[in-house]
Parts: sequence; structure tokens; C-alpha cells
Amino acid sequence: MASPLQLRFVMSAGDVNQLPESPAEVAVIGRSNVGKSSIINALGNRKALARVSKKPGSTELLNCYEVEGLGTLIDCPGYGYAAKSARIRDASRRMVETYMLEREQLTMVVLLVDGEVGPTKLDLEMLSWLRTNGVAHSVVATKRDKLKAAQRGKRERDVAAACDLAPGDITWVSAVEGTGRDRLLSLFRIWLG
Ligand code: GDP
Repeated sequence: MASPLQLRFVMSAGDVNQLPESPAEVAVIGRSNVGKSSIINALGNRKALARVSKKPGSTELLNCYEVEGLGTLIDCPGYGYAAKSARIRDASRRMVETYMLEREQLTMVVLLVDGEVGPTKLDLEMLSWLRTNGVAHSVVATKRDKLKAAQRGKRERDVAAACDLAPGDITWVSAVEGTGRDRLLSLFRIWLG
């Protein structure tokens, strides 16, 4: 088993200018409930590290975790909360887009899609935005354990096709079973390298 990232919560930033100094950053983004907190906790081998990003008031912010010796992991606000007002949704989206376009230290945006549900309309919009704007990104599909073994191959091809990607372009993970964790850990080390 690959050693976990040494993650330490640093701060929640409401603006790109407030972000801490860092040599390299990887941002993680996805719709609410996609499994983002579970994956961040799995990468850090911690049970409730990313709980902070769920605290009221923190859900609209860029939650920053120092990755010891490497750089920063940025937990971006989840999108698609029905409960959020349109005004908050727009402000949050603008902030994240500005961050992704302007942050020089950002080396990779990890877009999480729910492997069981497949990419939603909002996921595909985000993917299209990343492509249009030339922002380096990588798609990770979550909750692989929820697929029946017999469906997995087809499901992996279908999710890739829906994202207009080859199956090998997507990293499949399960926070419950630990599948894909080692691969994702090595990718993070490369992206922050
Ligand atoms: P977030 O809102 O994107 O941070 O998502 P969470 O990490 O809080 O996960 C949302 C729900 O999905 C929770 O009920 C988790 O227990 C569940 N979940 C997250 N990852 C997995 C996974 O790999 N497998 C399964 N079966 N459930 C998961």
C-alpha cells in the first residue's frame, strides 16, 4: 500500500488572493455528494480530515490542505446543491473559474464523477469548460464498489464514452474498498512533483 499524503488543513479562502504560498497545487472538484470528502480522507488516510469543507460557511470556499513536502490540495466548492440560491451558485462558480484560470501554481484539476450515476449535465458542462479554457484536468470516477462485478467493464466504457474519453483516461476509485487509491496517490505525487 502506497504511503498516504501527509495532509494538514490550512485555511478556507474566499478569494484567489487569500491562498497560501505554494510551489504546486492540485484542485479537486465535483458535484455535491460525489464522494469528494471521502477521497480526500482516503488520500490522507484520515477519517474526518475533509469534514471541515462541509462546515456551514466553508462549502463556498476553497479549502486548502498542505501536502507536506509537495504543495497544496485545494478542495473546491461542490456544485449542484439544490439548496443553494442562484446568487450563491453564480458567485461560487465565478470564484472557482477565476481560480482555475489565474492560479499559476495549479498543475491539475481533478474532476470527480460518480461512477454509479455517470457524468451529470453539470459534470459535462464543467468538463467542457475545462477543455475550452485549456485547463489541465483528469477525470476520476468514484464509488466503484457500487458497480456489480459483471457490469464493471461496460460501465467503465460507458462513463468514458459519455465524457468523450478513452476508458484508460479515467481513474476508477472506491473510498470504501480502497480501489484505485494507490494509483491516485502516485498521480497526486506526479502532479505536485
Ligand atoms: P462529497 O459531498 O462529495 O464530499 O461526498 P462524501 O464524501 O461526503 O460522500 C457522499 C456519500 O457517498 C456519503 O454517504 C459517502 O459515504 C458515500 N460514498 C463516498 N465514497 C464512496 C465510495 O467509494 N463507495 C460508496 N459505496 N459510497 C461512497
